[in-house]
Amino acid sequence: MTQEVASDARKLLRPLAAPLKSLLQELVRTNTVAVPPDGDETPAQRILHRFLREYKVKSALYETEFITRSGSPLVRKNRNYAGRKNLSARISGRGAGRSLVINGHMDTVPPGRLAWSRSPWSGVAQQGRIHGLGSFDMKGGLVAGAAVVCALSRAGIRPGGDVLFESVVDEEWGGGGGTIAARMRDTADACVIPEGTQLEVYRATRGGFVVDLSVKAGDSSAYFSSGEVLSPAVPLGRLLGWVDKLTKRRAKLRPQGAYAGFALPAPVQVLAVEANRLDPQVPLSVPSRGTVRLYMQFLPQEDVDAVIEEVRLDLRQFCASDAFFSKHPVDWKPLIGGPLYGHELAADHPWTQCMEQSAGSVLGRKPVVTAAPYPCDAGLIHRDYGIPTLLFGPCGAGAHNPDEYVEWDSVLRTAEVLLASALAWCNC
Ligand SMILES: [Zn+2]
Repeated sequence: MTQEVASDARKLLRPLAAPLKSLLQELVRTNTVAVPPDGDETPAQRILHRFLREYKVKSALYETEFITRSGSPLVRKNRNYAGRKNLSARISGRGAGRSLVINGHMDTVPPGRLAWSRSPWSGVAQQGRIHGLGSFDMKGGLVAGAAVVCALSRAGIRPGGDVLFESVVDEEWGGGGGTIAARMRDTADACVIPEGTQLEVYRATRGGFVVDLSVKAGDSSAYFSSGEVLSPAVPLGRLLGWVDKLTKRRAKLRPQGAYAGFALPAPVQVLAVEANRLDPQVPLSVPSRGTVRLYMQFLPQEDVDAVIEEVRLDLRQFCASDAFFSKHPVDWKPLIGGPLYGHELAADHPWTQCMEQSAGSVLGRKPVVTAAPYPCDAGLIHRDYGIPTLLFGPCGAGAHNPDEYVEWDSVLRTAEVLLASALAWCNC
C-alpha cells in the first residue's frame, strides 16, 4: 500500500518538476528579508499565490495584522505586521479522513556581513544546487509544500480530509506571528514543516532564548590616568567564566526521547562579546560598556521559564559575590522577548509512523527519525495549538550563513514524501 502511494506521488509530481524549479528560483530572487520589527515577505507571497492559482488551487493572501488586536498572549508586541501577508491554500476533503497542514515560512534572515561568492539573491542553479539566501531556509521546503497541493489539484484528487498548505511571515527571529495568524484561522489533525532536515524526520525541536548581559562602568577617555582605570573589560572575563560554568552544567543533561543521542542536547553559546571596537578613528579608548550575548537552548520536556529564572538567580548570586559586579550590576535584556518552546511527538504516534513509512517508501531506505538542532514554529503549532507536528525537508547547507544552497533533487524528494504522507494520512 505505502509502496503504491510512493509511486503515485512520484507520478503525480513528475510533470511539475520544471515549473517548481523555476518557482524556487524566482522565490530566491525575491528579497524576503525580515529584521524586527519588520519583514518584506509579501512580494514573494504574491508569486507563490499566482503559481497556486495556475494550478487552480483554492488559495488566499490575507493580512496578519489582526493578531495584534486578538489579545493572545502569544503575540509579540515588538513587531509590525501591517502589510505582511500570509498565504493559505486548501484542497478540500470529502469529510472522511484526517486533515493535514503543511506549514512553511517565507521570511529570511538578512544576508549578514560576511562575503557571499555570488549575490544572495542569485537563485542560480548549478551542479544540482539552487543557490541563494533562503534557498535552504526554507524556500526549497516551501516549494515542496506547494507542489503537494498543486499535484492534488492538477490530478483532481479529492482527499478524505483537507490538505492545507500555508506560507507564513515572521518566523525568523522567533516571531511566530505568521503561524499564530494561520492557527487563528485554520486547524488540522497533523502538521509538517518542511524546514531543512536533510531528508530525515525530525519529531522534536528545542526551545531557545537569547539574552544580552550588559554592564556599564567607567569613562572611555580615562586612559591617561594616574590611578586605577575603571572598565568592564577584565570583569567581562569573569562573566564569561560564569557562562562557562553554566555551559558545563547544561552539558550534563542526559535527556530521554528524541534528543537522547545528542552529544550536546541543550547547548549554551556566546553569540557575541562586545567591549569597544578596534576602530582606526579611535586609537585609544577604554570600554565603558561590555556585553555578552547568550544563546540558550532547552529540551522539549524542560520547564523553560523555570530554567531561565534559575539562571537569572544564579547570575544575581555571581554578581553579588564579585567586587566589580556588586557595584555595577549586569543588565538582563532578552533580544527578541520571551523564549521559544520546544516540542516532541512520540515515535509511535500515528503521524510519526505515517511519515516514517512514506519517507521509507519514497527514499527506498529506512529514514532516520531524530530531533532538530534548532527551535522553530513547531513549538507553537504543537504545544500551543495542539497539532501533532513533524519536520521533514530537503538537503542543503548554509542556513543563516553565506553561500546558502539547497539540493534540487532533495526538494523533489521532499515533495514526494510530503505528498505520499498526505495521500496516506488524509485517506486520499
Ligand atoms: Zn527556517
